[in-house]
Amino acid sequence: MAESDCLFCKIVAGQVPTTKIFENDSVIAIMDISPWTMGHCLVIPKTHAATIWEITEEDAVEVMKAARKLAAAVKKAFRPDGLNLLQSNGHAAWQSVGHFHLHLIARWFSDSLIPPVVASEGNPKSIAANAQRIVEALG
Ligand code: ZN
Repeated sequence: MAESDCLFCKIVAGQVPTTKIFENDSVIAIMDISPWTMGHCLVIPKTHAATIWEITEEDAVEVMKAARKLAAAVKKAFRPDGLNLLQSNGHAAWQSVGHFHLHLIARWFSDSLIPPVVASEGNPKSIAANAQRIVEALG
């Protein structure tokens, strides 16, 4: 997607209305327009990067610093029982806007969200082989 067509670049540029809750030189935070729970918000780097594979290390650090600050504010504002950080990369991973963003989703024991998978123990040999592939890729 071209940056000129990017919804979040337009939001950063002030060309699309949003509910902004935080801004610094590197990131903005906005309320999600389709909240999963009360207080659902997003941290977005101002510089376009589609996914974790494109974002700079500096912007990734800035996103996490802002997330930490906002998580404290969400905790103070809503007193949730927990909070998910959710970050998706690619359509296969449920990314709906092609500009890196990190969701902060406050959670309550009483909320209606359910895990998308039921965890089951994997094959130890397969896990070890896959670990080796990642270690080799790290170089
Ligand atoms: Zn963008």
